[in-house]
Amino acid sequence: MKKSLYVTSLLTLNFLLSTTGLFACPIQANQSHSKQATELNLEGETSSVTENDFDRLVEIASESYTGIFKRQGLKLKIDASWKDNTQNAYSDQSGQNRYIYLFGGYARHPLMDKDTYLSVICHELGHHLGGFPREEGSTWASAEGEADYFSTLKCMKYLLKDDPENERIALSLDLPEEVKNLCRNQHPMSNDYYICLRSSKAAETYGKINASLATPDSTVEISLLTPVTKRVHSTNLTYPMPQCRVDTKFQGALCNASIDIPMGYQDENKGACSLKNGNPIGARPECWFAQKY
Ligand SMILES: [Zn+2]
Repeated sequence: MKKSLYVTSLLTLNFLLSTTGLFACPIQANQSHSKQATELNLEGETSSVTENDFDRLVEIASESYTGIFKRQGLKLKIDASWKDNTQNAYSDQSGQNRYIYLFGGYARHPLMDKDTYLSVICHELGHHLGGFPREEGSTWASAEGEADYFSTLKCMKYLLKDDPENERIALSLDLPEEVKNLCRNQHPMSNDYYICLRSSKAAETYGKINASLATPDSTVEISLLTPVTKRVHSTNLTYPMPQCRVDTKFQGALCNASIDIPMGYQDENKGACSLKNGNPIGARPECWFAQKY
């Protein structure tokens, strides 16, 4: 049963990769799914994420978001294959069906941990629920930067809000005092503060993994404390650089806008932090997003 599902997944994905509506995340797919898995030779890769963890995280996301999709007239379908070595994740849609494809290969990346993988799932959910701006040429998918922003601005906060382990996990993380202070200033309530710390650490790890996949020999440091200072003049609707994506996820974690306000599909300020909203801390970074003032 499992094997046939796996084969079906492979065939489906190879077909989908030949279409234009599928979004590869978190890195751009330049190769076919199966070729990517073979060339990277990931058979022996292991992380702290177990198959049980992988299944549980998928279950949490699916249980928590199925109703939210349903209320928007959409059907969430998560296809998760632990055995697949692909180091990526994908989103797609067909009519009202919204698909997310997840693979063990990315969860097994040596730097991966549970919180970071949860943020990967949240990024995929963000393609479907992240609102404005949309991916270049897409009628339905939020842009990569926006999916990153949604992942910490809404999704991590929503999925972790009732986690009894928030305090224990958050206080075990190695994070700079500057990050802790920013999280504390933005989130005076302890549970919100702990989630901010978990999301921030996951953001940094996510960036390091993406950087290692995109440019394996790069010595550029990825850190919460080294944000990109270059500003774009027009919004980047494709793939921001790994450090910029860390910055985006960090700002999403810092933003204190309510998770109950969904993202806007026309209004960039709805549900978000922005200068116009009077809360520029936590706004989308200008390394990819050209704010309207
Ligand atoms: Zn993506």
